[in-house]
Amino acid sequence: MASGKTQLLSCLLLGCLFQLSTGLVFWTAVVEISYTNSQNETIDKYCECGIFGRNAAVERAQGVVTLPSGDPKGCGPDPVYSRHADSPPWIALVKRGNCTFSEKINAARLQGAQAVVIYNVDGSGNLTQHMSHPDTANTVAIMIGNLQGMEIVKLIQNSTGVQMIIEVGSPHGPWMDTYWLYFLSIAFFIVVTASIAYFVFISANRLYSLRRHKRAENRLKSEAKKAIRRLEVRTLKRGDEETTSEVLLCAVCIEAYKAGDVVTVLTCDHIFHKACIEPWLLERRTCPMCKCDILKALGVEEESKPEFNQSSPPEVTVITVAGGEAMYEVPLTDTASPHYDNRAFEGEPARG
Ligand SMILES: [Zn+2]
Ligand SMILES: [Zn+2]
Repeated sequence: MASGKTQLLSCLLLGCLFQLSTGLVFWTAVVEISYTNSQNETIDKYCECGIFGRNAAVERAQGVVTLPSGDPKGCGPDPVYSRHADSPPWIALVKRGNCTFSEKINAARLQGAQAVVIYNVDGSGNLTQHMSHPDTANTVAIMIGNLQGMEIVKLIQNSTGVQMIIEVGSPHGPWMDTYWLYFLSIAFFIVVTASIAYFVFISANRLYSLRRHKRAENRLKSEAKKAIRRLEVRTLKRGDEETTSEVLLCAVCIEAYKAGDVVTVLTCDHIFHKACIEPWLLERRTCPMCKCDILKALGVEEESKPEFNQSSPPEVTVITVAGGEAMYEVPLTDTASPHYDNRAFEGEPARG
């Protein structure tokens, strides 16, 4: 549920971001002109001074610059250029004003122009605008400044043939690098999403193993309690060795035994008060005297092995606890001896 909502939210966010950036990002055009001057010299000029229109094809275009035959603003339904579809590649140069950008662009496109260059109105210097011109069939259309446009118009009016190449410049936006901001936002979004997903995954995993560990611990504890009940329990009588000896003490409470005390005899033959040794064993498993693992000796393994190999039964043995139900499997090599005394204490004589 939560992930669905997050997904929806991220889609909306991405969509908004995309809409915003495509609306605000614009491409510059590198405009290169070449002509032969009156001294028969070839002049080449270029500047990154054009802006592709909002609905323009952002592509390279090349051709002879051509002005409208009548009105320099290139409006109206009549053929406005003395050109045909089979003319050599040409680019229309038209002044802003009188009609929409779309009308100017379509008038030139229908007569076969490779591209349409619209220059700004008088008095606007070299200012340009990000034109909007729907329904212009993916035509290459750029705007240049008034001064740049007028310079080319004058050349053509003086019968100078001007060749123009329009190259795609670079993306720009209202703030310096919209595109980078766009990609940066997406990258940031991906990183944040991945981090959250990773965090959720790790937390869930940890919670799951914690619960499993807790369950295993509880099961182990109940098995241990059952196993401890199987240990021999005696009530000491007057005259028993334990009640008369001055050296025999319960190692847990450090008190001498009295007649009537209930004691538990461990598998290592050490004895302790029943009330003392039972919580001790549940907590620490081992005999306080010889450190022998009493619970292991009773068949209660310390930890269940989650990754044991079920597919190779000949290599494992099953240790059953109390009811005969299979509880733990351990490799045969680990069960060499039925006696679990700690070797470090083997040399010491057993007391008690
Ligand atoms: Zn005791
Ligand atoms: Zn012992």
